[in-house]
This record gives sequence, C-alpha cells and structure tokens, in this order.
Amino acid sequence: MTRQKSVLITGASRGIGAETARVFAAAGYAVAVNYHRSEAAALALVDELTAAGHTALAVKADVSDAAQVRNMVDNVLEIFCQLDILVCNAGISWEGLLTEMTEEEWRRVFAVNVDGVFHCCAAVLPRFIHGKAGKIITVSSMWGQAGASCEVAYSAAKAAVIGFSKALAKEVGPSGITVNCVAPGVIDTEMNAHLSPRDLNALREETPLERIGTARDVAESILFLASEGADFLTGQVLCPNGGLVV
Ligand code: NAP
Repeated sequence: MTRQKSVLITGASRGIGAETARVFAAAGYAVAVNYHRSEAAALALVDELTAAGHTALAVKADVSDAAQVRNMVDNVLEIFCQLDILVCNAGISWEGLLTEMTEEEWRRVFAVNVDGVFHCCAAVLPRFIHGKAGKIITVSSMWGQAGASCEVAYSAAKAAVIGFSKALAKEVGPSGITVNCVAPGVIDTEMNAHLSPRDLNALREETPLERIGTARDVAESILFLASEGADFLTGQVLCPNGGLVV
C-alpha cells in the first residue's frame, strides 16, 4: 500500500488556497489548511473535506510570525507524521499611490507576502532536506512580473517571491527538493472584490482568453507542480493568467 501524501497550504481559508485544498484532497492528499483570521471558514472547509471522506485539519498561524509558523509546522508533522508538499499561498494586497503608503503598510505587505514565504520554507526545509524529498510551490502574481500602477509594494513583494523561488530552487535542488512558483493573472476571489464591474470588464477584454480566471485554474497549476509529472521542473514560474502577461 502506498503512503498517503500530505500538503500544507497557507492562506487556505478562502479563495485560491481553499480551492487548492479541495483539489489536493480530491487527488488523495491529506491536507493541512492554514488560516489566520478566517477561523470559521477554515473549519467549515475542513468539515466539508472530512465529510467527503478526505483527511484534513485546520492550523492557525500568522505567516508573518516565525514562531507561529514553526508551531504550525510542528503540529502538522505531529498529526500527519510526514509532510510532502508546501504551498506558500497566503498573501495580502495594498492599493493606492506609493506616496500615500505608510511605512507600516509597506512593511506589512512584505511581512506577509515575502517574510511569510521565508518563514514557511525555513520551517519545513530541515525535514525536506533530511528526507531528500519535498516540493515547494510559492504563489506570486503577474504583477510581480509586469508591475502594476498603484500596487508598487505588492508588485515588489511578488517579484521578490519569484527571485526567492528561483534562488532556493538552485540551493536545495541537490537535496532532491523542487521549488516552483505560480504567477496568476486576474482571479475571481475576495482579493479583487473591490474592482468595479467596469474594471473587471476591461481586464477581461485585455486577456487573450477573454475571461477572468477562477481559483480552480490556479489550484490545478499548483497541483501539477506538486505531481510526479513535474519532477524535473524546478525554479520555474507557471502563469495561469489567460495570456494577459506572456
Ligand atoms: P484572498 O481571497 O484575499 O485570500 C487570502 C488568504 O490569505 C486568506 O486565506 C487569508 O487568511 C490568508 N492570509 C492573509 N494574511 C495572512 C497571514 N498573515 N497569515 C496566514 N494567512 C494569511 O486572496 P486570493 O485571491 O485567494 O490570493 C491567494 C494568493 O494568490 C495570494 O498570495 C495573492 O497575492 C495571490 N494572487 C491572487 C490573485 C487574484 O487575482 N486573486 C492574482 C495573483 C496572485 P485569513 O482570511 O484566515 O486571514
């Protein structure tokens, strides 16, 4: 009998992370659903998955806090005994003119989007290196590739995630670990709830595939990067963006 593989997905209480949890559970993984504030949503997702016969647990941690992340990883390892895949998905955006951004707001964007990825990778890597196996998938954004007006901090943070993923891929490749990144386009989640129908329509029209992406579109890319089919891929950026940035 083959051992059930396990995955830890950060920011899995809603949006892309929650859909990634569903897709991995359906593929047979035991799923650890990380959340920070949305406890009710995370617990409801775990109930949904366990009711469908899957293995799932909810783990609270603010990814910007290294100690909370270490505790979370310890808890997951205690319950699942093993961790095969880490998905660094938790993220926040901030919109506005750079000249109106406070230092505190700038630091928070980097603390969650960049430090969060560092804390999670640092917490799982000793295990992955010891086992000479493991796959890390980070979540950047097309704005980390192209840059977005009024999202300078977010764009810079997401560009950092791409640089981090490429460099770490080189560092841990000899230990049998892959590190890849997804850089989604415009995806229909709460993160874009502030966009007006007019803005969304303009983005849809600019997208060669003529639609806004779904959380499922991104989740399927992440699942692929975790699969055996991606065993020889590392340091790559996969872009579920409908062709908006090529
Ligand atoms: P979302 O619907 O706003 O969900 C964000 C998730 O991140 C929530 O589960 C939230 O958890 C979690 N989170 C936020 N701060 C956290 C923290 N400090 N610690 C732990 N978890 C935290 O956003 P989404 O659209 O699904 O985005 C997911 C990822 O995709 C993000 O990295 C985002 O930058 C990236 N992305 C999104 C789009 C898009 O168009 N939607 C495009 C490109 C990239 P709680 O609610 O529990 O706090």
